[in-house]
Amino acid sequence: MKIREIQPQLIQEFTQVLQSNHLSHAYLFAGGFGNFELAIWLSQALFCETPDDNTPCGNCRACRLIEEGTFADLHLVEPEGQTIKTAQIRELTTVFNESGYESNRKVVIIRDAEKMHQNAANALLKSIEEPEGEIYIFLLTKNENLILPTILSRTQVVKFPKNVNFFSESLEKAGVLKTQAELLAHAFDSIDEALKIAQTAWFSETFNKCDQFVKLLKTAPDDAFLYLSALTDSFDDKEKQQLFFDLLLQLLYQERMIDKVENTFKAVKMWQSNVRFESCLNYIVLESERVL
Ligand SMILES: [Zn+2]
Repeated sequence: MKIREIQPQLIQEFTQVLQSNHLSHAYLFAGGFGNFELAIWLSQALFCETPDDNTPCGNCRACRLIEEGTFADLHLVEPEGQTIKTAQIRELTTVFNESGYESNRKVVIIRDAEKMHQNAANALLKSIEEPEGEIYIFLLTKNENLILPTILSRTQVVKFPKNVNFFSESLEKAGVLKTQAELLAHAFDSIDEALKIAQTAWFSETFNKCDQFVKLLKTAPDDAFLYLSALTDSFDDKEKQQLFFDLLLQLLYQERMIDKVENTFKAVKMWQSNVRFESCLNYIVLESERVL
């Protein structure tokens, strides 16, 4: 998916920033709708061999290597497991002190920046403020609320609003069923990620189970109870459970089952504080029965 289509407004703004040479050295890109794609586009702008008025050509060697993720002076940091480890950041700050392969410029993209430890964040910020050579940092997050205040105050924050209609239409064009496309557009931030999930057999299975669960909640809570064991068997890790809850919330919205939306929100809160998935589902069904 091309960034120009995902965030045309931001591309326009950043084109002006590039043309007036006002790109800052540290950004926080908040919101997953195109934030990685924009960071890549800006990295290309910084290294492009044949730029068009400071914007990247997209075709030269540097642009292509950056797109492929193999450009030597672009460093991508992603969480290892649930956190970005301090060692990962330390490795990075060592790189800052070496001269660049391609030029004196270096670009760092840090995905899920909210998963950085306080120590790692401090080490990183220190190197932003005392740069050796020219360093650009793009911190990416889907949830700005989880970012440490020290980071917020030292970066330029750019928000990435999600265009749900465009999102859903893009998925439909790629062959996803309309009902599923709408759900995914609400539940996900990145079109590419949503598309990847949509194309797995596991997703249609999840979708069907979720749909079935909602129908039972609506008409036969007793049967919903019996259905719980099938659900807990299928959703056996946190990631799958998260997707299940996301889909469930969207389906309940679509069905206008507002009281159950509220109960599900409460259940998700419980789940986040480590109550077992099964117990949380139990809670949703029990509350539904109480209403009937
Ligand atoms: Zn280029």
